[in-house]
Amino acid sequence: MKKSEKINKILKILKKKYPSHSKTTLNRMRTKPNAFKILISCLLSLRARDENTEKVSRALFQVASTPKTIASMPTKKLEKIIFSSGHYHKKAQALKHVSKELIKRFKGKVPKTREELISIKHIGPKTANIVLAFAYGKSVIPVDVHVHVIANRLGWVKTKTAEKTEPELMEIIPQKYYADLNAILVQFGKEICITTSPKCSICPISKDCPKTDVKRSR
Ligand code: SF4
Repeated sequence: MKKSEKINKILKILKKKYPSHSKTTLNRMRTKPNAFKILISCLLSLRARDENTEKVSRALFQVASTPKTIASMPTKKLEKIIFSSGHYHKKAQALKHVSKELIKRFKGKVPKTREELISIKHIGPKTANIVLAFAYGKSVIPVDVHVHVIANRLGWVKTKTAEKTEPELMEIIPQKYYADLNAILVQFGKEICITTSPKCSICPISKDCPKTDVKRSR
């Protein structure tokens, strides 16, 4: 079987198991996209559990859902609201800085290009691509640790960093999967292809996986 056929086969199996729109907080936000809320939730989701991201985002958006309201909110109050998402001090700083930059440089709007997005401190390539894909429907692949690790284990790419994985995936993943790939692999990575020790014995794509660099599995 050719590499492209294998990729198609695997993604078909995983997409059926993990229908993307219903799964993660950020994916649910795609149904009624608000670029600023998606950006803020994405910043809150870093190193946080998905349930917390949803809870904290909802609490925050009840009192502040625009760059102006977040930029002008006292830091202590913001920290209190987002406390349970973890790293609340750093995240409060990030949220305020990003909001201020949007006001100062982009008339309070979230920019629509990757270059502009990553020119704002605290917005990395993954966050930029989440905004571009989920808020603006652009054909990009948000690559986080799950996507990076799984793509390497499956032998789709051979890369050291998520930044390097992204352009390589763009070459080999069928475009129809671009927007959903992140959601599918994040769910799969949390449940089965776990970064520290994958559950290969119950994996639905085990027979098509070379398990590259998997030293320990269950
Ligand atoms: S077989 Fe193991 S390494 Fe390969 S995708 Fe499944 S869980 Fe991940």
